Amino acid sequence: MAKKTVKDLELKDKKVLVRVDFNVPLKDGVITDDNRIVAALPTIEYIVEQGGKAILFSHLGRVKTEEDKEGKSLAPVAARLGELLGKEVTFVPETRGEVLETAIANMKDGDVLVFENTRFEDIDGKKESGNDAELGKYWASLGDVFVNDAFGTAHRAHASNVGIASNLETAAGFLMEKEIEFIGGAVDAPKRPFVAILGGAKVSDKIGVIENLIDKADKILIGGGMSYTFMTAQGKEVGLSLVEKDKVELAKELLEKAGDKLVLPVDFGVTKEFADIPATYVAEIPADQESLDIGPKTIELYTELLQGAKTVVWNGPMGVFEMSNYAKGTIGVCEAIANLEDATTIIGGGDSAAAAIQLGYADKFSHISTGGGASLEYLEGKKLPGVEAISEK
Ligand code: ADP
Ligand code: MG
Repeated sequence: MAKKTVKDLELKDKKVLVRVDFNVPLKDGVITDDNRIVAALPTIEYIVEQGGKAILFSHLGRVKTEEDKEGKSLAPVAARLGELLGKEVTFVPETRGEVLETAIANMKDGDVLVFENTRFEDIDGKKESGNDAELGKYWASLGDVFVNDAFGTAHRAHASNVGIASNLETAAGFLMEKEIEFIGGAVDAPKRPFVAILGGAKVSDKIGVIENLIDKADKILIGGGMSYTFMTAQGKEVGLSLVEKDKVELAKELLEKAGDKLVLPVDFGVTKEFADIPATYVAEIPADQESLDIGPKTIELYTELLQGAKTVVWNGPMGVFEMSNYAKGTIGVCEAIANLEDATTIIGGGDSAAAAIQLGYADKFSHISTGGGASLEYLEGKKLPGVEAISEK
């Protein structure tokens, strides 16, 4: 990788600032899912093992007013981190000032400290999310080097990622490194054939991704709710299925541009009622019914088109997988990807990742991206400010 990683840094005796993603779900002060804390452990443990002083920080939720602070402290996260690491973690309920500076000055090699929610700095004047130059400089002054391991916020230039990075030597943590390697790798230099599978609810959410991948992928297989806007553009009957009328013209243009690269479903799981009841499978959607999934012939076709692929990017479920009767298309595609040999397979997209995990395919993919918005923008071919700001090797 052209960017520095934590392994390229001299860490012994160093104050290592680490931007982590500790934006975990909390209910009444209790963490309901600690996956993001667990995911950050390899980078933190590596810094500790190397004798660095790990100074960790993250945003947590949205904080715009003084009242928003309620329930958004990182205190419970620091406590959970201590349990997971099996060592003491100091929590400082401040984002700046003497108390924080003294606590950092008192750290010994291998110590771990967490300071307060970076978005508490947004209350007077959006200093964190507006990438206030003073704040970035101040946070940078607290450390010797900077490790950014928060891919989920890499599509935003905030003081806690880009601001610090413009003042300090910066490296990617292990999580960030994996995202750059897999998603960046697929977009910039995919091994071919490169097949993209795009689905989900709306065309409008994915226009940028489709446009970018029309240029880069060898095949684009379409499923999910976006299919019907494309089919409407082709003049086909879609019944009561989801259509974005204001995107039909655009869908026409995309179809023309993509030619036979873009493949649409050939059969459908339809229903008269939006409920978890068995689908009827048809090649043509009846006018009084709604399609909520791709059918078995489409699964067969997509499985065939995936054969021999060396890079596969999947973004967006093939149907309303939340209802088991309409999860078959998504399962079929997961199965086809899981059976590929020698392919780099990547999921980008929050609901697709949730689907793969829920349906039991999580360990069948080379990489499941942790950043919904960030991975989408990365797949759109955009430069992510948080990634760009990492020092070159
Ligand atoms: P991701 O988060 O992976 O990018 P999206 O947010 O674009 O995915 O889309 C996920 C949603 O799309 C799911 O909640 C799913 O129910 C919905 N969806 C998929 N197929 C259809 C369909 N045929 N009709 C309506 N909604 C659909
Ligand atoms: Mg989504």
